[in-house]
Amino acid sequence: MKSLLRLSHELGREDRHLAILGEGNVSADLGDGTFYVKASGSQLGTIDAGGFSRVSMKPIFDALDYPDKTDDEVRKILEDCRVDKKSKLPSVETFLHAICLREGGAKWVGHAHPVSVLKILCSKLGAEPFRRHIFPDAIVVCGRRVAVVPYVDPGIRLAVALRKSLRQFLNDHGAAPKVIFMVNHGPVVLGQTERDVLNTMLMLDKWAKILLGNYSLAGPQFLEEKLSDRIESRPDEHYRRRAIGKMK
Ligand SMILES: [Zn+2]
Repeated sequence: MKSLLRLSHELGREDRHLAILGEGNVSADLGDGTFYVKASGSQLGTIDAGGFSRVSMKPIFDALDYPDKTDDEVRKILEDCRVDKKSKLPSVETFLHAICLREGGAKWVGHAHPVSVLKILCSKLGAEPFRRHIFPDAIVVCGRRVAVVPYVDPGIRLAVALRKSLRQFLNDHGAAPKVIFMVNHGPVVLGQTERDVLNTMLMLDKWAKILLGNYSLAGPQFLEEKLSDRIESRPDEHYRRRAIGKMK
C-alpha cells in the first residue's frame, strides 16, 4: 500500500501537470486474483489508503463478456467486485486496469491526463507523432512501439476497445506494449514496478514536450525505423531498461 500511495502522490504532484482533481488512476496486482485500484472521486495527489478499493478480477472479466450494459448495471458490478463491501466504489476505469494487469502482463498500471501528451492526443494528429521515435531514451523507457485506442466513452466500452487494441498488439509484436494511448483522453502505462510506471509517465511527458517543440519549428526529425529497432534490441539498452526500472 505504501508504494501505491507513493506512486499516486508522484503522479498527482501539481508541478508535474500529469493529473489534477479526480483525474487519473493507478492499480497494483496482488497476485491472488484481486488488485487495488483507485476509488472513484479520489485525488491522486492527496489520496490515502481509504481512497483505494481492493477488487476481484473474476466478476470484472465476466462483465466484459457482455459489455452492453446500462450505467446502473456497471455501477452494480463495481459495487459487487469489492473484496471489502465497506470500501469505496472503484473507479469506472477498473475494467481497463483489470485487462492491463491480466492480459497485458503488468503488475502496476498508471493512467493520467498529462497536459503535454493531451496537447498531441487531442490534436488532429492524434497519437500519430508517437508512432515513430525522435530520441533513444523514449525507446528504452516507453518501448519501441505504442498501442493506440480511438476515443470511446470511458468505462466498460472503452475497456473492450482497449482490450481489442492490446490483443492486436500482442498478436503483431509478441509482447505487450508499455504505453497505450487513448486518443482524446490520455495514456495508460503498463509497468512491472511502481517506479517503472512513474519513470515511463515522466519520459512520456518529456517526449510529448519535445515533440511539441519540434512541431513549432520545422517538424520532428524522426529516427529511421531501423535505428529505432536497433536501440530496442541492443543488449546494453536492455540492461539500461532494467536498471531504470529500479531507479529511485
Ligand atoms: Zn482518464
